[in-house]
Amino acid sequence: MILDKFRLDSKVAIVTGCSTGLGQGMAVALAEAGADIIGVSRSKATDTRQRVESLGRKYLEMQADLTTTEPVPGIIAAALEAFGKINILVNNAGTIRRAEALEFTEEAWDDVMNLNLKTLFFFSQAVARQFVSQGTGGKIINIASMLSFQGGIRAPSYTASKSGILGITQMLANEWAKYNINVNAIAPGYMVTDNTAQLRADPGRYNEILQRIPAGRWGTPDDLQGMVVCLASEASNYVNGYTIAVDGGWLAG
Ligand code: NAD
Repeated sequence: MILDKFRLDSKVAIVTGCSTGLGQGMAVALAEAGADIIGVSRSKATDTRQRVESLGRKYLEMQADLTTTEPVPGIIAAALEAFGKINILVNNAGTIRRAEALEFTEEAWDDVMNLNLKTLFFFSQAVARQFVSQGTGGKIINIASMLSFQGGIRAPSYTASKSGILGITQMLANEWAKYNINVNAIAPGYMVTDNTAQLRADPGRYNEILQRIPAGRWGTPDDLQGMVVCLASEASNYVNGYTIAVDGGWLAG
């Protein structure tokens, strides 16, 4: 039956950046659908752990700074030791530095590109190798942005990284579809999280954005939950290489 195809019972999902915001919302949604969670965050994710465990799912907490790829092999090893397999990877951890392009520093470029794009690629590579050796295939879901489609302002490395995610999602889907690996991305619109705190603190920008959103409201972490479960599940087996906007209609406006 169709609703059964959305179920994730006995699946194991890694979610990066799940201590708060969109990653937390997606980790809880995957757990509600039946998956056990390996949560990777720079800070402790106590709230996420409690929410996942209260659903009767297992939660493995991994604290790591993903600005470099160095923690990736250890995370994979710990996941396999705890659960014996991996089925789903959500590359959600991301950061932004805001400054005019004329003033932008090399450090702000590297910090964002390393986390948002370089680690996303090498984490995907490590998990895909595991999917291939398991012979099971698997699901990779990258978190993109409106700035995968548009230039935006004052976030040069963020725009570069999120545009890069759209491309690498297509490229990896091309190469890995033959292993039954689906690589897709979700492009959230303007969502209420720490990532947009600076933007929302500027009443001019906040209202300018609000007026441009056809849904008439900013998004919340709950708004991504249906899409992440769909892309992590059997229901989306023939969807590959696509970046899906969850944006209240922003790109249509
Ligand atoms: P957030 O700041 O609330 O969460 C970011 C998460 O990433 C946190 O769990 C944090 O611990 C983790 N993280 C940050 N740096 C890390 C590092 N170096 N190593 C490991 N983990 C790290 O922001 P959010 O809005 O929930 O962002 C999640 C993702 O969604 C990001 O990729 C962001 O670019 C993307 N996104 C957000 C919006 C929005 O409007 N909020 C829109 C489009 C895309």
